Amino acid sequence: MDITDLHKLFLKSNGICTDTRKIKNNNLFFALKGDNFNGNTYAKQAIEKGALYAIIDDEKFAVSEQYILVNDTLKTLQNLAKHHREYLNIPIIALTGSNGKTTTKELINCVLSSSYQTTATSGNLNNHIGVPLTLLSMNKNTEIGIVEMGANHQKEIEFLCKIACPDFGYITNIGKAHLEGFGSLEGVLKGKTELYRHLKKHNKLIFLNTEDTKLSKAAEGIKTYTFSQTQESDITIQLKDVNPMVSVLLENKDIHSHLIGSYNFTNISAAIAIGFYFKINTEKIKTAIESYIPSNNRSQIIQKKESTIILDAYNANPSSMSVAIDNFHSLDYKNKTVFLGDMFELGDTASDEHQKIAEKTIQTSFNTIYLIGHNFFETSITDPRIIKYRSFEALKENEPFSNIKDAILIKGSRGMKLERILDLIK
Ligand code: ATP
Ligand code: MG
Repeated sequence: MDITDLHKLFLKSNGICTDTRKIKNNNLFFALKGDNFNGNTYAKQAIEKGALYAIIDDEKFAVSEQYILVNDTLKTLQNLAKHHREYLNIPIIALTGSNGKTTTKELINCVLSSSYQTTATSGNLNNHIGVPLTLLSMNKNTEIGIVEMGANHQKEIEFLCKIACPDFGYITNIGKAHLEGFGSLEGVLKGKTELYRHLKKHNKLIFLNTEDTKLSKAAEGIKTYTFSQTQESDITIQLKDVNPMVSVLLENKDIHSHLIGSYNFTNISAAIAIGFYFKINTEKIKTAIESYIPSNNRSQIIQKKESTIILDAYNANPSSMSVAIDNFHSLDYKNKTVFLGDMFELGDTASDEHQKIAEKTIQTSFNTIYLIGHNFFETSITDPRIIKYRSFEALKENEPFSNIKDAILIKGSRGMKLERILDLIK
């Protein structure tokens, strides 16, 4: 079946499903393969549960006309997404960067959806499967699409751009994330700016924070819409306060966000700039930003008896860890405790980067510093405020948690699941 015919079936269907547990009547089921599963084996179940067709790539499983056999189900899904994107003919904004993609995407979506029908990446579906699924979740009512793109190696963003064909792009920042795949900070810059090169080639536009020197340099020669705290950019947005939530000043109006950490200032500014570009008025932008409340352990603030807890246990890498430490250091609390968990996916740089973070913590006003995980345990650092544990389990067994009060920062990679600390704090 060629892609045009498949697309016709798709338009008649009730959307795509790749998981039989979530199937809805008249879905098109795509039998994808993972390390531990083969979607082809679920095709029969998908049809029984009401799928219109099952797209499979193993002929053994094709038992009726409801099974569409293709060479490669994943490639077919990607081709279908690209075809659908061309069919939709709407502006698409693509976002990538080391940190803050999902937060920025959600802020942009809050702002743009105040005046347009938008469809944005759901959650963190930002890879070679998630991006096609995001595009295929857009329909004729969608006026603007917002697509998060993740990458941990070169050529990934270029590949996703070929599917999504974005008209606009935004890179949140270039930081030390996924160093295992990218090798170095230069490697990260090269990989993420594949988005810029794609947009340049097609004469499209990027949104740019001109205070980011690395990205400004990479953006030379490309059409831009700029923002910063100075008057020289297309739109001026100033940081008003971080106490502990970020507020910003936009055209004499204060906007009070529910986001913690000065690093979120750039994320908010990007959403405001994009709102302005799409001609949304300041009042609507203000309401949108003020309505956004982060979830999923991303820089959340939790009040527990005597303690204010900043829970940032969604992920961590040297850059986001560093800004989280700076931010916590700058906050006005008397007694500060930090729980920092290992940062994953750092490859050969792991021991160096953990050492640097450990050293950074003792330059702060923190009263107690817990370093948790194998990599942090191996750091050579001596300071009476530092307590190291090889694992969360060791921390749990040995710590009474009775003296902790006032303010607490919890940050570590997803695999450390440091949100479990919440249950230990009495
Ligand atoms: P992922 O790679 O998992 O998709 P992401 O780029 O989508 O991550 P978010 O989920 O928005 O990022 O945020 C994750 C964490 O990154 C936040 O909890 C915060 O600690 C940190 N972070 C967010 N924005 C920034 C920023 N602009 N600079 C540095 N760190 C940030
Ligand atoms: Mg994300």
